[in-house]
Amino acid sequence: MRAFNFSAGPAALPEAVLEQARDELLDYQGRGLSVMEMSHRSPEFIAIAEAAEADLRDLLAIGDDYEVLFLQGGASQQFAMLPMNLCRAEDTVDYVRTGSWGDKALAEAGRLANVNIAASPAAFTHVPCVDTWRLTPGAAYCHIVSNETINGVQFHDFPETPSPLVADMSSELLSRAIDVSRFGAIYAGAQKNIGPAGLCVVVIRKDLLGRARPGTPRIFDYAVQAKNGSMFNTPPTYSWYLAGLVLRWLKELGGVAAIEQVNRRKAAKLYAAIDASNFYTSPVATGDRSIMNVPFTLADSNLDAAFLAGAEERRLLNLKGHRSVGGMRASIYNAVPEAAVDALIDYMAEFEDERA
Ligand code: PMP
Repeated sequence: MRAFNFSAGPAALPEAVLEQARDELLDYQGRGLSVMEMSHRSPEFIAIAEAAEADLRDLLAIGDDYEVLFLQGGASQQFAMLPMNLCRAEDTVDYVRTGSWGDKALAEAGRLANVNIAASPAAFTHVPCVDTWRLTPGAAYCHIVSNETINGVQFHDFPETPSPLVADMSSELLSRAIDVSRFGAIYAGAQKNIGPAGLCVVVIRKDLLGRARPGTPRIFDYAVQAKNGSMFNTPPTYSWYLAGLVLRWLKELGGVAAIEQVNRRKAAKLYAAIDASNFYTSPVATGDRSIMNVPFTLADSNLDAAFLAGAEERRLLNLKGHRSVGGMRASIYNAVPEAAVDALIDYMAEFEDERA
């Protein structure tokens, strides 16, 4: 029996997708070979790649004025590609701090441009009020992490910014409806809501292409990748194929609007259980809590190990919080079924009764 997997990423994949991949593993649709063994230039793989892009465009209602790229190097590579492509060394870029990943992004940008920290809360427990942001006139872009995977802080509204808004949506893309046209660029490492690791989806407004600074290696130039259909070199074909299966699965479920309802219900019941207890605490401000990553602490951290051991016995896996913040974290991405959240809530109540 499969366990309930609350991993932050690489994370749970839909069981139906894994079953289809298993069925097609040795012989893809009668071709007599695995997708892993196909040329990325073959008609079969080109069809897989194009279907994935079409499904992603459909799911997020991405307009023709945006390019969709399937790149390698993870979201971390985008921390560097953004400044390489969107600004020059003398330009200023605005970064809003709401968690650990935003800090990694701005540290990388600082190697390539002048970074203005537009907003910086004393602790990563909330999104600083937009009225307090100090944006730079003429900034090349404004960067946010729309959902901070480690800290569980999420933007529920997006600000209007004078410069193009760029968002790291690694741990939330496809979990809720968003208006892509509000953004200059959106990027997301695949290994949470999209597919296995190895792929990073970039959605970028076409007018922002072709601005790479002189000397940018061609493989890191968005315009070069766009011109080559994200196949400037051999792409991670199997990850791309699996992402395509996940996208098709999501469409068949009713798309982003349908999964958003389930996601909101899952998150609401987990936060309600935490808030109703005197033993569990959420560190995040109520209005800025993530619907994907739910960090929580136990009243006595000496019980953390026992909590995790009991969870594993019940096949509730990967609930340990990130090493930088401690405590627990339940990542409840699209592929984590509501039954997993119900089982976690039952276990939490049981543990509290016995140990608190
Ligand atoms: N941004 C966010 C919000 C993340 O959650 C992660 C990975 N957990 C990253 C960036 C880094 O992604 P990668 O390991 O794919 O570079």
